[in-house]
Amino acid sequence: MTTFADLHLAEPLLRALDEEGYTQPTPIQAGAIPYLLEGRDLLGLAQTGTGKTAAFALPILDRLFREKGRAHPKGARALVLAPTRELASQIGESFASYARHMRFSHAVVFGGVGQGRQIEALRRGVDVLVAAPGRLLDLMGQGHVDLSGLEVLVLDEADRMLDMGFVRDIRKIVAALPTDRQTLLFSATMPKSISDLAHGLLRDPATVQVTPPSSTVDRIRQAVMFVDTANKREALKLLVDSPKVERAVVFTLMKHEANKVAAFLGEHGITAEAIHGNKSQGARERAMSGFRSGNVKVLVATDIAARGIDVDDVTHVFNYDLPNVPESYVHRIGRTARAGREGWAVSLCDAEQRAWLRDIEKNIGKAIPVVSEHPYHSEAAEHSTMRPPVLGGGGRGRGGGGRPGGGRPPGGGRPAGGGRPPGGGRGGRPGGGGNRQGSAGRRAV
Ligand code: AMP
Repeated sequence: MTTFADLHLAEPLLRALDEEGYTQPTPIQAGAIPYLLEGRDLLGLAQTGTGKTAAFALPILDRLFREKGRAHPKGARALVLAPTRELASQIGESFASYARHMRFSHAVVFGGVGQGRQIEALRRGVDVLVAAPGRLLDLMGQGHVDLSGLEVLVLDEADRMLDMGFVRDIRKIVAALPTDRQTLLFSATMPKSISDLAHGLLRDPATVQVTPPSSTVDRIRQAVMFVDTANKREALKLLVDSPKVERAVVFTLMKHEANKVAAFLGEHGITAEAIHGNKSQGARERAMSGFRSGNVKVLVATDIAARGIDVDDVTHVFNYDLPNVPESYVHRIGRTARAGREGWAVSLCDAEQRAWLRDIEKNIGKAIPVVSEHPYHSEAAEHSTMRPPVLGGGGRGRGGGGRPGGGRPPGGGRPAGGGRPPGGGRGGRPGGGGNRQGSAGRRAV
């Protein structure tokens, strides 16, 4: 079994890892670190939750430790580009944590906050700069950043950066970097746009691919509850109120819905904060630190805002809305059952989102157990063949066009229990939720 010492990382890093309680490298770390220590370019196919941050941070820090030197004023020796401010902040914190026993400086820059402190942090140059592309490009344009001495470039969550429309910014930033550098690109998925980008940026890259941490996903107990839209809030309250729910992330599709759900829970004595792109940086940081410390029980988030949430002891994920993009389901539920713990992922599915559930089940290759023993169970939602909602602006709306069965009225034309193979026991009661006495024994799969 590989250990961190087998990877020949510098002693101060081994000490920090020991203190972090990391006993063994994760597959992406064991796969990537040897190549990176050799100076190779790398294409890493790995999602959040696999330990990818340390996979790039440790070799960079090892290099900084062994090849002493300093960045130029306004410069950086390594640059990590990340899609969101939350992710950028967390990457910065991870670097600082692994570098605690060595001399190290870093700066994190992202939009939505004043530039002053970021410019000041960069003035003398830093070892590692973690940046969201838009703000970095602004600062470069104003002459506050000089990356001509850069040694290592990392693009983290490259697929998400492209989804968010950062491709031109990335290309402009890369054009200002020395060509003689080490380049790492991490992505959870490999669409053509990413292979094109990788082809243009990487030189003879090693490729390391880890499948989504299936062991993690296997530890997540999943369930779906069919409810009418009007009952979603009450159903959520019932779930979240359970004492088994210690710390939960609730996902909504829309920012305004995240606000409403957080306010509703708050009115019922459950501490909840919303986190999404319209919140100020200060508000997001307060919400996150309240959540980390346990003062806030529930974080209500949209998909993009939640990308960087990395809190180890989330006991439950609740999908207030199902995601319209099936892959997001796995990302979302991966917020729980981290670091070897168990976790629950419970989805509330109404008639409109029923079609998305079918897509998700196809994507994960199995049916999600149905829990119907609760006061809000909706047969109409369960058997709905409605078109999914068409999402507007910004989202990756998929419209309703062309979906087989689209447009039929809810509940139409299907026998009860349609299509689901019977078997197995019930999915259990998520979070010890409510009990509908006398409900006929639907079988969950
Ligand atoms: P990431 O994929 O970088 O978001 O990391 C996911 C989580 O795994 C973070 O909470 C890390 O602190 C944790 N982690 C990373 N590497 C290890 C390791 N080798 N052993 C245990 N936990 C780790």
